[in-house]
Amino acid sequence: MKQSALLLTDGNASPRDCCVAKVLEFFGVPSRNLDAADFPCANEVGCSTFQKIRFLCSAGVFLRTIEAWEQKPDHTRWWTKSVHSAFVYPGDDPESVQRLARILNGGHGVEVCQINPGGADLAVSDQLSGFCGVMTGVRLTASKSKSNGNLVLKTGKGNAINIISLGDGGIFLKLEYKGVPVFFSTSREIIDIDTELTSQNFDVLEHFLSAMPLVLYIKWAFAESCWNAPESNACLVIDDPLLKPTHGFVDFQELLSLMKQHKFSTNIAFIPWNWRRSAPEVARLFRENPERYSLSVHGCDHIGAEFGSSSQQRLHWKAQQAVERMNRHESITGIHYDPVMVFPQGIFSEAAMRALKRTDLIATVNNDVVTADPYPRAITISNMWDIAVMGYPFPLFTRRYPWEGIENFAFDALLGKPAIAVIHHDYCSDHCANLVSFIDGLNALQCAPTWRSLGDVVRRSCRQREVSPGNVEVEMYGTELRIENRSDQPKHFVIRRRESEPSAIQRICTDSQEIAWKPVNGHIDFEIALNPGENRLIKIRCHDVVEKRYKRDNLLYRLKATLRRYLCEVRDNYIVPTRSRFAGTR
Ligand SMILES: [Zn+2]
Repeated sequence: MKQSALLLTDGNASPRDCCVAKVLEFFGVPSRNLDAADFPCANEVGCSTFQKIRFLCSAGVFLRTIEAWEQKPDHTRWWTKSVHSAFVYPGDDPESVQRLARILNGGHGVEVCQINPGGADLAVSDQLSGFCGVMTGVRLTASKSKSNGNLVLKTGKGNAINIISLGDGGIFLKLEYKGVPVFFSTSREIIDIDTELTSQNFDVLEHFLSAMPLVLYIKWAFAESCWNAPESNACLVIDDPLLKPTHGFVDFQELLSLMKQHKFSTNIAFIPWNWRRSAPEVARLFRENPERYSLSVHGCDHIGAEFGSSSQQRLHWKAQQAVERMNRHESITGIHYDPVMVFPQGIFSEAAMRALKRTDLIATVNNDVVTADPYPRAITISNMWDIAVMGYPFPLFTRRYPWEGIENFAFDALLGKPAIAVIHHDYCSDHCANLVSFIDGLNALQCAPTWRSLGDVVRRSCRQREVSPGNVEVEMYGTELRIENRSDQPKHFVIRRRESEPSAIQRICTDSQEIAWKPVNGHIDFEIALNPGENRLIKIRCHDVVEKRYKRDNLLYRLKATLRRYLCEVRDNYIVPTRSRFAGTR
């Protein structure tokens, strides 16, 4: 029987209760609301699920519930036997926080203070790795998080454990009631994941208090029923370099030594226009170190927001030309490229996503998630929390700059998202000292990522949950998925992928077999059985476009593209390094 959540309410679910329900749903945890007044006859609740009860409610509701129980005979025995844990958050009544905290702290006094945002760092405990997972030991500056009006509990005596602390107080604590753990968040706000994203990327600093305690609790309490990513993967992407021994501050030999020493991988977002220009000695480094170096497709000519256009025909031609150039580059240099598009300047349109769907590319990777269209579709926090943004015709994996902080990469990993970091050559201007310290930080996380090529990061990104013994539900994102049965039992995988236009699909197959599939309410579904240790690469292929009538670029455009590429190289190789040397000697 699956673990499910019980949301105890005051009769009507409050806006906070609704936000909690949305986060549970996002993680695939079944939940139901129950009026707290009906909970004392909870014996039935316990019996009907066979699973111990995991419930979530406000401090006021929790307080009233236990006060009612204490009148009943035998309640302690029932409570200890039937309840697994509880997650509690402040409601509208501030007094209940203090009263409840005191009860849960074994009757010892608890000081409730307002958070001083200028004070100490927020620190996730480094002692509770079973609960905190990848967030174990992560610290961040409280002043950068939205903490105004929130509370901190100073427990002194008692058996409270601070899971997230601020100075000597706790903002997320493990307490207990009659031997059952109660996880107490002091945040007055619970994140609403349906909110439209207002920044370029989700920043966990802004939502730390309203999101982190709840997500940590859900991932721990519902470990068996919630969506989980089977792997935690990472790749560093450097945009633009040509494959010459050096490009700007990137020295390919030096970077390779650092990758071997500090254990990471680099993908070069390669401009297809440069297909004839790679140096043989750099091509050899790529061929000989495929576990370190990989190449992806960075636009086509990399000029004038080429994938921000709304002309479907032109975009088909550009995407096709990019792939052809990469194929030619592969035949000259012997470097296999990852069929992943990284948009130049991050600019793309809905039409570009439709065009890419009809190519052999498997996904896009980008910093920006909103299109350049006049009326772009809204992207919500839950879209961003997903392994990839799936609202467009083609999947978009998000990436981040190192200066967004290890805490953002760690939170992405907690959500099951791969860690894709992006830099430009100038970030290597200190012989990669900053870069290496960032990489070491990522590798020092409780669950260190596996560094792969960008293509393998995409192919191995999915989320799954075992719905019954031997039966696993999988959600697929890119148009290729490497699926693996890591157990010692045969397993049956039911794979689902969001797809708004199933008629575009030509076939789904592995290297050895065609797979039957069916469209179901905005998804496609198919199944595959794997023996212990077996793995398969599943590929979804779309029909080619019927009309291909875009004539070649005119001479003026081609001259402009050439000029632009050479000017950018002069900038990267001479102007930026010279400016940086002068800045360094000042
Ligand atoms: Zn670029």
